Amino acid sequence: MTAGVGGPARWPWVLYLAVGAVLVVLYYLAPVTAGGFPLRVVLYCLISTSAAVAVFTGLARHRPRPALPWLLIAASQLVYALADAIFYISHYVFDVTAYPSLADPFYLAHYPLAVAGIVLLIRRRTPGRGLAGLLDAGTLAVVAAMLSWLYVLGPQTRLGAPLLVEVVSLGYPVMDLALLTVALGLVLGPGSRPPAFFLFIGWLAAIMTADTIYVVQQLNGTFQAGNFLDAIWLAGNLALGASALHPTMRAIAEPSPVPDAPLSPVRIAGLSAAALIAPAVLFAQWAGGSVRDVPVVAGTCALLFALTIARLAALVSDQRRLAITDALTGLHTRRFFEAQLPLEIAKARRSGGSVAVLIADVDHFKTINDRDGHPAGDQVLVEISARLRATVRAGEVLARYGGEEFALILPGATADTLPIIAERLRRTVAGEAITLPTGRRVMVTVSVGTSVHPTHGTTPDDLVSIADRALYAAKDAGRDQVVFGASPVYSEVPVDGLDYLHLVADEVDALLAGEQRSRAVARVARVLAAACGLDGESTRITELAGRLHDIGKIAIPRAVLVKPGPLTAPERELVRAHPEHGYRMVSVVPGHAAVAAVVRQHAEHWDGTGYPDGLRGDEIRPEARVVAVCTAWVAMLTDRPYQAALTVDLACAELVAGSGSQFEPALVEVFLALRERGDDTLGTHLLGKS
Ligand code: GH3
Ligand code: MG
Ligand code: MG
Repeated sequence: MTAGVGGPARWPWVLYLAVGAVLVVLYYLAPVTAGGFPLRVVLYCLISTSAAVAVFTGLARHRPRPALPWLLIAASQLVYALADAIFYISHYVFDVTAYPSLADPFYLAHYPLAVAGIVLLIRRRTPGRGLAGLLDAGTLAVVAAMLSWLYVLGPQTRLGAPLLVEVVSLGYPVMDLALLTVALGLVLGPGSRPPAFFLFIGWLAAIMTADTIYVVQQLNGTFQAGNFLDAIWLAGNLALGASALHPTMRAIAEPSPVPDAPLSPVRIAGLSAAALIAPAVLFAQWAGGSVRDVPVVAGTCALLFALTIARLAALVSDQRRLAITDALTGLHTRRFFEAQLPLEIAKARRSGGSVAVLIADVDHFKTINDRDGHPAGDQVLVEISARLRATVRAGEVLARYGGEEFALILPGATADTLPIIAERLRRTVAGEAITLPTGRRVMVTVSVGTSVHPTHGTTPDDLVSIADRALYAAKDAGRDQVVFGASPVYSEVPVDGLDYLHLVADEVDALLAGEQRSRAVARVARVLAAACGLDGESTRITELAGRLHDIGKIAIPRAVLVKPGPLTAPERELVRAHPEHGYRMVSVVPGHAAVAAVVRQHAEHWDGTGYPDGLRGDEIRPEARVVAVCTAWVAMLTDRPYQAALTVDLACAELVAGSGSQFEPALVEVFLALRERGDDTLGTHLLGKS
């Protein structure tokens, strides 16, 4: 037999249904026994067993992963067929009609197996989030349970039947309710709906319908073995077998590609209507004058309330999951990263441990978008995310930080271990080419910047910005590499010595809360130097020394530098060492010995009372005398911790007061003359305050 299109090998499920239907017809036409042979029983059991065989065959043909749900369903069907065999043999062959019979434990046992199999299927279809569908199903099942109790089970228990009869009779509706719950969960939950799915649902619908009618008929004594119910049961069995044989059988257990459907208005209306049945029943009983089932209805209402609350809680947690999950890559969002980082830093601080931040940016990503289109770019992002995810361990946070930027929090990573981790991550991305939907294969690389708490910074902002700067250094250095963060003072970008000193000057300004102060000093110094007749070279030296005059303060302990109160004598000594520190720092830059000397002398006084060398008058370099006036001027016009900024007139008065003691008298005169001429570059304008 060839397996051509349309041939029996391709349509075994159709063949199975067709043969099954013929057998069902034969079952009704056949005599109970033919020549002593129990023909009907054999036909019946043949069909119900065939369903189990079909499920096993489907398992072997389609190899669904995992196999367990289908194995459980096959086992359930086998037990069911066994029960049928026992029931019909005792009924037709031995004419035993006792109830309950030996068949009942088998009938009852097949339900839990089926329920377990279906629950596993639901979990596969909706990994980690089948809950909403199950809760909705639970709501409907609770209402069904109430109705069943009020109109089926309740009357049954009031018949006064023997305990065993009662237990078994209650067992069926209870098991049916469990089955109903998971069946509704399957129908109401998200997930693919291939033809095999509908056959599967057909199986569940058929056996639940027949079971319900069976209980009713048993109750009112109208049940007769071999009535139309057998056709429904058998049709259900055939539907199960066909479902397992159907080519789309595997797809039933495939994870849903779409997220949970939002709670649609139709579903809200349906659930509300179902929940309203309980109070409606109570109202109807009250209107009819017999309020009999208050405990049952009240219990139902309480259960429905609990289910509603659980559903709300699930919705809230779903919304939260959506908020912290990036839709394209499934990674955490930047929002989550930013919420998590302070927590991890606090944890590290408490335990005295470390935590690292790592930011990776895809290199030349725009090229991929431009050449292969945005969807290809998206796919590359998804692939990179998957590769990154594979390197992440429990407790680490991986987030999509921007369009093609990824960020990681690595608790416990230290300056020693981080290089290994970061390098592994970089190699993981660059390791293998990515095949685009266009068929083109591209090598994709990332540049990585890192920072470690507490080595590089202690706040989330610091850690992120240092890692970010390191990332840009990695880009500058040629991409596809890792750069490890440095503290803000020491730029990771290679700079020449003078650039470096400018950075230090900015740092000192920032520390002393006088943003731009050294730049202001430099500009005033240039104007004054030129005005008092210094040549071009000296003016340049004065300006640069004005800019760098305070850099030596970087070597002074922060606590002393920013101390609000008066300094102790040793503390004052520390501060007074800053011109010498600055001098040494500038000295190492080739060709700047004069600037270094001016920096050393900027705190000397005209009358010899300054520091560090107690120079006086002409012993002090003219550039240093200029810088001394300018630093005082800018300081006076700036708000300081212990004194608000002076007005320009008051500052001028202070200069006059210091003339001859702190300042060179001739310089003060030139300075005041500049002011008289209305040169506002010396005024507040210069401080960026106008
Ligand atoms: P560099 O090596 O300097 O990082 O080069 P680059 O081309 O990666 O430059 P840049 O980081 O500035 O460009 C990022 C590009 O990423 C720009 C934007 O169009 C693209 N992008 C951002 N988000 C997405 C996205 O979700 N999907 C796609 N396909 N592209 C995105
Ligand atoms: Mg970028
Ligand atoms: Mg980029």
